[in-house]
Parts: sequence; structure tokens; C-alpha cells
Amino acid sequence: MAQRVALAGSTGSIGTQTLEVLAAEPDRFELTALGAGGSDVDTLVEQARRTGAKVVAVADVDAAASVAEALPGCDVRAGGEGLESLAEEADVVVNGVVGFAGLGVTVATLRAGRRLALANKESLIAGGPVVQEARRTPGAVIVPVDSEHCAIHQCLRANDNLERVDRLVLTASGGPFRGRTAEQLASVTVEEALTHPTWSMGPKITVDSSTLMNKGLEVIEAHELFGPPAGPDGAGVPLERIDVVVHPQSIVHSMVTTTDGATIAQLSLPDMRLPIAYALAWPDRSTVAVGAMDWTDALRLDFEPPDRATFRCLDLAYAAGRAGGAAPAWLNAANEVAVAAFLAGRCRWSDIATIIESTLDALEPDPLTTLDAVLAADEHARSVAEAAVRTTEETR
Ligand code: NAD
Ligand code: MG
Repeated sequence: MAQRVALAGSTGSIGTQTLEVLAAEPDRFELTALGAGGSDVDTLVEQARRTGAKVVAVADVDAAASVAEALPGCDVRAGGEGLESLAEEADVVVNGVVGFAGLGVTVATLRAGRRLALANKESLIAGGPVVQEARRTPGAVIVPVDSEHCAIHQCLRANDNLERVDRLVLTASGGPFRGRTAEQLASVTVEEALTHPTWSMGPKITVDSSTLMNKGLEVIEAHELFGPPAGPDGAGVPLERIDVVVHPQSIVHSMVTTTDGATIAQLSLPDMRLPIAYALAWPDRSTVAVGAMDWTDALRLDFEPPDRATFRCLDLAYAAGRAGGAAPAWLNAANEVAVAAFLAGRCRWSDIATIIESTLDALEPDPLTTLDAVLAADEHARSVAEAAVRTTEETR
């Protein structure tokens, strides 16, 4: 029988690539429900018509009315609750929402005991303890879509005993500004930051890749996803055993080093359809090859350490991850505010790290064990970060 799939964030980069994966194996997957934010209603309506999905959710309540009008016969649901209800329609939910807004889908899917194909890393970073608890629901399982974590997930299957994992090694492309000095980076434009050398993605994660915050968030994501040994916060591999290496070709998607000194890696061309298909087909494998390497060609792969002094966001993330509790939620919120301000032309690229750092200086520690506490921490951190953006604007 075909697996029933629900897709949150269907109009984005992950969303549209998920629809391609589903269309390539129609006997295997049935799209039952899709949903998005509401800024691109026409695409959402077109997707619902094309796929025949019977349930459509729109996070923006005002936009939901026009979607319902355009899709008679469809069950159109509005608001955050509408998006969260998609889990009821499916065996597996793909969370391709961008940012903290994806938290509801992550938690609702796990609490409903469904499989979560997770692209939305922000929910895991901001809501760590709450997500870990939801993950203990019978039937709930996370299969990562983020390419690095999907690679590690695959590497870990080559090793029965997780106690024998020594290090997780996340690869980073280095982004568009790899090799540049702080002086050269003082005047980079939005357009330059949005030009990624190896991946085509939504604007927020593309800016995160340019600052290395994406890799910082992924370090925390790896800590939350993989274990044992369990840390004090219920998460897995400790941060001091998670490394980052810059690998400009984006062919090695990440690696695991075991206690005997072996390193296991996953290699393929940079194509998100592979990790999406992996998370959908798990524990089986997709039969449609995407991103396969041609090993008859000559090939060179490079690896170098990240420039942590110039790309300060990476170590800000390590520090927030080590602090735990509310710190990753504050880091995430400050980053979302700073990136939005940069994209809106309100601050410079180099201000992003400064805004995050000054926000974290005002951190109010909290164990963040309830969803309400996570929402409150996010809101508080956003107001602190917004004030930091205004200070930056005034001093320009
Ligand atoms: P995107 O900007 O292209 O798409 C975002 C989607 O989220 C859209 O469908 C939008 O309608 C929806 N959305 C926005 N605000 C919403 C809200 N308030 N409520 C509900 N839906 C909302 O983003 P993307 O590049 O596809 O990234 C999505 C997620 O996947 C991010 O967390 C990103 O870090 C992660 N990710 C993306 C890639 C990639 O290749 N694009 C790779 C790895 C991880
Ligand atoms: Mg990634």
C-alpha cells in the first residue's frame, strides 16, 4: 500500500523538491495533504489542483479564505492549528517550513506518533527538550532531511553499536564568502549573500550558509538528533565530539568516525531530492537515483578547517549549544531577526553576528521544558534582538 504523505511548506525549495520526489514514485507515495505560509497562495492552489491533495492548510488565516474559494471540494484549514492537523492525514510528514514557525508541525507530528521527515532544523534547535519529549511518543520517529544529518543517519547504519561512535563530522561548503577577510566582508551585498556556490535554497538558509550560522545550527541539530550517549538534556553526542570541516565541492555530505579510527562517509552530488527520498522511503531505499556520482571521471575533493575568527556565528552556536536550555532558542530567534533585518537592508552582513552576540548577552536561562516556555523564550529573544537591530540602524 502507498504511504500517505503530508507536506508542510509545500511552496518552498524543500516543498517543491518533495513534490518532484513523490511524482517520481507514484505507486509508493500518496500525497494526502499539503500546506504553506500564505505568501504564495497561487502556487499552493496550483499544487493542490495538480496533486489532488484533499486537505490544504494555510498558516495565514486571511489567505485561507481565498484558497478555500479557489479549491471547492477541498478541506481547507487555517492557521497554525490547521498546519499542525496535517499529521492526522499521513503516515509521514515532511516539515519544509522555514524558521521557528515550523515548531508546531514538528511537535504535533511527533505527538501524533508519526514519522517526521525533518528539514526544519530551527524547531529542533529552539525547542530541543520539548521535541525530545514528543519524540518518545510510541511510533514517533525523526528521519532527517538536512543533507548532513541524513548522511550521518546513513553512516550510523553501518555501525550497530552507537557507543562506538567517536566523532560526528559535519561538512560545510563554506558558502559564497569562503576565503574572504573581515575587511572584504564589511561591504558585501544581499545579492552576493544569496548566491550559494553549490546549493539552490530558500533565502533564509542561504544567508545562514554565508555566515556559517547554518553549520552552527546544524551542530546543535546533530547533538539533538544522534545518540547515545545521552547528555544531561536528553540529547545525544556531546558538542565537543561534533566537528565541522569545510569541503567546497559538497560531495561528502558528512561523516562518522568510530572508536577504532575508521571514518564512514556518504557521497553524492548536491541534490536535496536524495535526502528527501531517503526520509520518505526509510527504512527502505528509493529506487530512483538522483545525484549519483560517476566514479569513472577524475575527481578531487578538498577539506580545510573553517575560519572561525571571521565567521563568528559558528562559535556563537557552539557556545549556545553548550549553555543549553533557552540559549539555542535565543540564538535561533536572534539569528532569524538579524537575517530578516539584513535581507530588508536594515543592517550589514557583518552586523548579523554582532546582533546575535549582544542578544545572547541578555539571555535569561530557562530549562525550556514546556511548549509555552519555548514560545515565551522565542518572543523575548526576538524583542531583545529587534532592539539590537535598531541600535545598529542608529549608529550607521
Ligand atoms: P523556503 O523559504 O524556500 O520555503 C519555506 C516554506 O515555508 C514555504 O512553503 C512557506 O510558505 C512556508 N512558511 C513560511 N512561513 C510560514 C509560517 N509562518 N507557517 C507555515 N509555513 C510557513 O525555505 P527552504 O529553503 O525550503 O527551507 C525550509 C526548511 O528546510 C528550513 O528550515 C531550512 O533550514 C531547511 N533546509 C532547506 C534546505 C534546502 O535545500 N532548501 C536544505 C536543508 C535544510
Ligand atoms: Mg544542511
